[in-house]
Amino acid sequence: MHAQKIRHLVVVLGDQLDRESAAFDDFDPRSDLVWMAEVAHESEKVWSTKARIAMFLAAMRHFAAALRRDGVRVVYQRVNEGDDLLSLEAALAQSLATLQPQAVILVEPGEWAVREALRLCAKPQGVALDEREDRHFLCSHGEFASHVASRRQLRMEYFYREMRRKLRVLITPSGGPEGGKWNYDAQNRKSFGKSGPVRLREPVAFEPDVLTREVIKDVNRIFPGHPGTLDDFDWPVTREQALTALRDFIDHRLANFGDHQDAMWSDEPWLYHSRLSAALNLKLLNPREVVSAAELAYREKRARLADVEGFIRQIVGWREYARGVYWQLMPGYIEGNALQADAPLPEFFWTGETDMQCLRQTLKQTLRYGYAHHIQRLMVTGLFSLLLGVNPRRIHEWYLAVYVDAVEWVELPNTLGMSQYADGGVMASKPYVASGKYIQRMSNYCDSCRYNPGKSTGEDACPFTTLYWDFLGRHEKQLQGNQRMSLQLRNLARVDSKTRRAIAVRAADLRRLYAVSSAVRRNYQ
Ligand code: FAD
Ligand code: SF4
Repeated sequence: MHAQKIRHLVVVLGDQLDRESAAFDDFDPRSDLVWMAEVAHESEKVWSTKARIAMFLAAMRHFAAALRRDGVRVVYQRVNEGDDLLSLEAALAQSLATLQPQAVILVEPGEWAVREALRLCAKPQGVALDEREDRHFLCSHGEFASHVASRRQLRMEYFYREMRRKLRVLITPSGGPEGGKWNYDAQNRKSFGKSGPVRLREPVAFEPDVLTREVIKDVNRIFPGHPGTLDDFDWPVTREQALTALRDFIDHRLANFGDHQDAMWSDEPWLYHSRLSAALNLKLLNPREVVSAAELAYREKRARLADVEGFIRQIVGWREYARGVYWQLMPGYIEGNALQADAPLPEFFWTGETDMQCLRQTLKQTLRYGYAHHIQRLMVTGLFSLLLGVNPRRIHEWYLAVYVDAVEWVELPNTLGMSQYADGGVMASKPYVASGKYIQRMSNYCDSCRYNPGKSTGEDACPFTTLYWDFLGRHEKQLQGNQRMSLQLRNLARVDSKTRRAIAVRAADLRRLYAVSSAVRRNYQ
């Protein structure tokens, strides 16, 4: 097969499954080869859930199969037991030595460390590396850098407005925002009240085909001790499936997306969320087509402005902003620990075995599907870690390991910045802290919990509530300069010193309790 000289070895990484990418611009099937590798190290460097591993491997194998059907020659390395020490760059170096292409074509990887390692790997072999821009994204590195240069302070909202103008998304003919307002966030925070969500229709599910079933078997065999299960694996793993998932969301959930974006409900993992993040991040879907489909639904009056703007803001705004922040501030960004948090990650994050209902629901669902929606990530698991004072690096490793959509450029700013305030205020203008009463308002979790969200001391005090007041007390001085924290700090000032002492004692007990580890937890420290 490789007797004739190879011109280009086109490297396609697990999150670059896009035939329209720059890697294929000048592809010549007669002289070029595609190179793809399943590397166990990628699943081991954080203790990835079985769902996350299967998502990547199933999508990669389907992509390679589609390329082959189109007559593209693909060198594809499947994962094997025992090769967990082989890194991606080592696997590529081996192939370069054997295949000796004239040049390696690579679209810029989405992870800083991978980009650096792959850049280094081609050099010793004397092979030219042609690294190309990732056109999937709506904002280039250069555009984000100009945005940063023109501001004293970074805020997603201003970036988002610039993007809306540039892309002409939800913009009136006169150039203003559709409906007169840029942001309908205030209408995106309704709970389900006491009665719960109505008329929930199951999202379209993708029964594993032969190739995916093979992946499921491999993952269970090669990564048996990894967290989670694959019994319910039904994610879209091909472009066609991803397009079906997009249509299903637009037709059946978008019209309710906005109102209940922040709401949570027991045993209802999906609610009105799109479930499109993994398909987007692996590049099975392009953000432009997702945004266009949502805007069209508004123009055709199939969804209201608040729903559509709320959805588009996540993609045009938060998703691009997270990527911009990541590349602007790496490699130092990952070291951030503005609140000097150093507690270990509680062991129950890997099992879901806790008597706190909100965490139990979110964690069990995470391990079962590799999915939790944004508010579960931000205001249940993220909030608990922040209040407890978990070291941001440890909680970052957890988030990167557990979700099917987890890739570092989007996960890290969300975890370290938005959720843990470890970047000191780049992603979020204040720490997202709240007591158990927030969770009570936005869900029905507290109804079946043994704790009382209104109490901060005593046996049945909600751990979130105790830790919330303790957090404010511990960081009072540091947060005093932040205008947006003033109401919360004024409320703290009203708490008498006896209660403050009792809260501190109970918080210390909780920290001791959750620091206890056993054999279940894998140690990455
Ligand atoms: P929907 O609620 O339907 O939202 C639509 C789309 O908007 C998503 O598919 C996603 O592409 C985008 N989006 C929504 N919120 C964000 C956000 N805050 N940042 C960037 N994009 C967003 N998202 C990931 O894609 N990968 C991650 O690894 C990831 N880690 C996160 C870690 C933490 C601590 C937090 C708080 C959020 C994280 N998010 C991550 C963002 C968000 O939670 C997920 O994108 C979303 O829950 C995915 O579910 P969905 O597709 O149903 O999203
Ligand atoms: Fe969570 Fe506290 Fe509510 Fe229990 S009472 S579900 S721990 S917020």
